[in-house]
Amino acid sequence: MNTNHNNLRNYAVLIVEKLQLAGFKTYFAGGSVRDALLGKEPVDYDIATGATPEQVQEIFPKAIAVGKSFGVSRVPMHEEWFEVATFRTDQAYHNGRHPSSVTYSTPEEDVKRRDFTVNAIFFDPISKEIHDFVDGRQDIEAKIIRAVGNPIERFEEDHLRMLRAVRFASVLSFTLEQETADAIRATASSIMKISPERIRDELIRILVESPKSGDAIMLLDEVGLLEHILPEIKAMQGQEQPPQFHPEGDVFVHTMIMMNLMDKKDKLLAFSVLLHDVGKPGTAVVAPDRIRFNGHASYGAKLSKTILKRLRFSNQDQDDISTCVGGHMRYMEVKNMKQSTLRRLVGAPTYATEVELHRLDCLGSHGGLDNYDIVKAFEEEVKNEPVLPEPWINGHDIIKLGISSGPKVGKWHKRAYEAQLNGDFKSKEELYEWLIKKIKK
Ligand code: ATP
Ligand code: MG
Repeated sequence: MNTNHNNLRNYAVLIVEKLQLAGFKTYFAGGSVRDALLGKEPVDYDIATGATPEQVQEIFPKAIAVGKSFGVSRVPMHEEWFEVATFRTDQAYHNGRHPSSVTYSTPEEDVKRRDFTVNAIFFDPISKEIHDFVDGRQDIEAKIIRAVGNPIERFEEDHLRMLRAVRFASVLSFTLEQETADAIRATASSIMKISPERIRDELIRILVESPKSGDAIMLLDEVGLLEHILPEIKAMQGQEQPPQFHPEGDVFVHTMIMMNLMDKKDKLLAFSVLLHDVGKPGTAVVAPDRIRFNGHASYGAKLSKTILKRLRFSNQDQDDISTCVGGHMRYMEVKNMKQSTLRRLVGAPTYATEVELHRLDCLGSHGGLDNYDIVKAFEEEVKNEPVLPEPWINGHDIIKLGISSGPKVGKWHKRAYEAQLNGDFKSKEELYEWLIKKIKK
């Protein structure tokens, strides 16, 4: 899809126009109206209509009913697809997830099933009229996320709305209206009835899209959700650290500072930062000189895997994030690293995330960037060559030199590659000669 934004809006308007011409009230709804009122470019356009899915189908024969029982169709327009939902009233909810059935209704009724007032405004792109039955505009003006109707009932109907509330407040830099926040506090433990996949997707959006991801985690904590979703992060609160390395405070405070400093955000970085010191509370010992966290990085990597698995992250994400967590202390030792080790550091598939994690780790504590500067300088030095070049000597070469057993071949191969990466020899030939002498010994 490479439609530019103007076209996307124009296509959505075409759908609205066709439905209106057929006699059905039809509006833009949800996020696009909210974002436009905030002066932000909407990412997608959801359409709400008085036409039933069957009537939508008649007008747009290529439409596909997605949740027929919920009155939602997907309608294609010039290669783009739009969600068109029939105005409806949701009936009873089961287990705080899906409504058991819906009845088609009016715009005034439809807004009552929507989550927050700021998401419950209709806009008619033909007449340019706004239909705002729940004072959503007032709340946009005041930067408030307020549940539509009785907040406790609304969160009991659908527990995921609690996370959506935190997401919208954090992403838009709005505040949670008092009763809405209190209702989340009262029902927070129910969040665990939601599938881990849905919790994961909301968490990712919260961390990646919020301008201050640390504030977002702190909001999750304030409303009582953090202790249920990520108890291991909650446990970092009050975990003291040696003040000479961490003048900023406990492990939680340190991590939140880093989260707030993150700018180039993506899923891997956000979760690597969040989890990098998760192993500290479990490894803390009060040594004679100071509190120590021996092995916290590798323990943290294991714990991260457990957490990410529980949240149904892909195996690749689990591996990448736990690699970043497990390796984060190596960056403190770059001054003493051999070239071969530096090359492995910079040549790692997760390097970009790891080096940024390290930068944030420094800025979020003592502020010194000496090690970061060394790694970046080395990265610059090797930027025009393969950081991890093809090995000059392969297994066959080593067998030809009379080594037969498998593990021994591996050992010599590793030694030869190490010497090559370290720049100990100018050419393959030199390395080969050295190897012959060494093996004969
Ligand atoms: P974004 O697309 O940025 O997440 P959005 O507001 O468009 O924001 P969607 O998830 O696309 O959110 O949903 C579209 C609209 O449907 C919402 O604005 C809201 O009115 C309604 N909605 C979505 N999910 C829920 C829910 N769980 N409970 C009640 N209403 C919801
Ligand atoms: Mg949307």
